[in-house]
Amino acid sequence: MPIDLGNTMQIYQHILVAVDFIEQSHAVLDKARQLAACHKADLSLVHVVENMVMPDPGYGMDTVLEVDLTTEMLHSAQSKLAELGKKLGIPDERCWVELGSPKYEVTRIAEENGVDLIVVGSHGRHGLALLLGSNADGVLHHAKCDMLAVRLPDN
Ligand code: AMP
Repeated sequence: MPIDLGNTMQIYQHILVAVDFIEQSHAVLDKARQLAACHKADLSLVHVVENMVMPDPGYGMDTVLEVDLTTEMLHSAQSKLAELGKKLGIPDERCWVELGSPKYEVTRIAEENGVDLIVVGSHGRHGLALLLGSNADGVLHHAKCDMLAVRLPDN
């Protein structure tokens, strides 16, 4: 059956990039921007500040320290994501900073906001890292929409 080329470039309407702020993440962002332009889709960003392990009083750590650190990380992530959003021309309301586990939070934001493609980076993994899994795997297993894993160079 012939493909209608007129519609093939508008398959996705809302593309969400999971951003982790590492140096190679520009490769993920570049690809997502190009896809959004091709598909005339909205582009959004999400970063998840991962829950810190609750300190055990037995280690002599203070719970207040953990709470303060989480708040500080959230603030810092918010300003970094806002800066990135501004650079890419993405409005604040489509730049989300969430607290929790990337696999749950990225997919929750996707579902709640009509995202039809999630873009993440993917490192080649070996040994223990392979056994432990990756955020890309986690998102893939929980996503209800399509996902693109952009292969990142190994260090
Ligand atoms: P990793 O499994 O840590 O190598 O990460 C793979 C990809 O998951 C990254 O390239 C990002 O696209 C995404 N990712 C990792 N950590 C986070 C995070 N904290 N918030 C949002 N996305 C993340």
